[in-house]
Amino acid sequence: MNCWPKPVDTLLEALKSEKLWRGFVVTDPDTQKVRASHPVLESVAEAIGSDTRDYRRHEGCFFEIGGESDHLLSACVHWTKRGQAAGGVRFWSYDTVEAFVRDGLRLSRGMGQKNALAGLWWGGGKGVVARRKDKNHLDPAVRRAVYHDYGRFMTGLCGCYVTAEDAGTTPDDMAVLFSMTRHTTCIPEKLGGSGNPSVLTATGVVVAMEAALEHMGMGTLEGKSVVMQGLGNVSLYMVGELVARRVKRIVGADIDESMIERVKKTYPDAPLALRLVPRGDVSIFAEAGDVLAPNAVGAVLNPDTVPLIRTRIVCGAANNQLEDPRRDAEALRKKGIVYVPDFLANRMGIVNAANEQYGRMENDPAIYAHLDKGTPWGIYRRCMDVFARSKASGRTPADEASDLADELSQELHPIWGHRGLEIINYLVRSGWAGGEPIR
Ligand code: NAD
Repeated sequence: MNCWPKPVDTLLEALKSEKLWRGFVVTDPDTQKVRASHPVLESVAEAIGSDTRDYRRHEGCFFEIGGESDHLLSACVHWTKRGQAAGGVRFWSYDTVEAFVRDGLRLSRGMGQKNALAGLWWGGGKGVVARRKDKNHLDPAVRRAVYHDYGRFMTGLCGCYVTAEDAGTTPDDMAVLFSMTRHTTCIPEKLGGSGNPSVLTATGVVVAMEAALEHMGMGTLEGKSVVMQGLGNVSLYMVGELVARRVKRIVGADIDESMIERVKKTYPDAPLALRLVPRGDVSIFAEAGDVLAPNAVGAVLNPDTVPLIRTRIVCGAANNQLEDPRRDAEALRKKGIVYVPDFLANRMGIVNAANEQYGRMENDPAIYAHLDKGTPWGIYRRCMDVFARSKASGRTPADEASDLADELSQELHPIWGHRGLEIINYLVRSGWAGGEPIR
């Protein structure tokens, strides 16, 4: 049966009807062919193997049915030469198996690129859990079962993927997950974790804006106007950073009034022009200013919005801002707009959490080095490297950043080598797939 275009529950039921609780799709390291653990996953293997957009020779994609929650859990591992796959777990709604698997593939590659550009010794990974239409994802009992299961799933994967927090997952969920596995970062501060990364993410994006302004010969942020889509956690702290750099005006829009009020209350004297917009409203993209910061959701830079943009720089925190990376980056380049790829600008979330197990300290130099304009792998100098490559080649910064990330992803971890792939090979050999419900 071809479950690729069908609802996610179709795959869940198909696995169950075969009495399978675990399955995988892996890329054979010798032949580079994609193969499935069981016939029921063959349609997924075929679709992935023939895909040219989101599948980029991923090392593996793992599936498990949660024995406690009855949800379909997945983990995508892109490349692990730099280290174990690292990236957060998303608890989200998907209409089809295709949408569910594609999100994991796309996001795990993005994480690998982000980690490589940041000089972190981690590979690229992402977890995705499909919400069920017949269960309330906000019900604490449902969430507890899901994150218990996800922790068990991580333990079973033996550390080829190390998870973290992502959209739809909360610090409380991470505490539940952590009770079942050691293969996670982003655990709450009270349990020894790194806590809220938004303040660092905001500072990192502002440093990237400074690099773009310098590259464009536009000076510093002082006296500039910044336009923001979304006024959530990152934007809240970004306003503080921008005010400290004496910007002239901050124009922002959000679909949630409480977010607007929170920013206004936190910075009563800031030069703010904030407004409430309906979902789907794109008028914020037409605001005049120097820098546009998409800080809400992904895929917002597309043929509907790019023609509206009136800033010379686009640099924000949202992941995967370009709906179609090639098409939309090229459209921005043609308009003379410098687009700072999100995976270059918004790395501080993963930087903050990735190396939690090595301990923490206030103003941690291992973390703050990324914000230092002199650090070779820091945000500022990496942006300048990418802009220089783009200027020399005539290609977009997104293409140049992507190629540089892929080059850096080929570096082997100095101590552990390609251990992530060795673990995957071990899982494949040792009969990890199949089995009984895991509880
Ligand atoms: P958040 O959920 O706190 O804020 C997002 C805000 O965008 C919300 O206030 C929401 O109401 C608003 N929004 C959603 N759709 C909108 C629309 N169409 N128009 C206007 N506003 C809209 O998230 P955050 O932590 O501030 O992160 C912002 C983005 O940056 C997200 O895409 C996130 O994945 C990404 N990111 C965040 C971090 C981090 O450290 N928090 C790190 C890396 C990437």
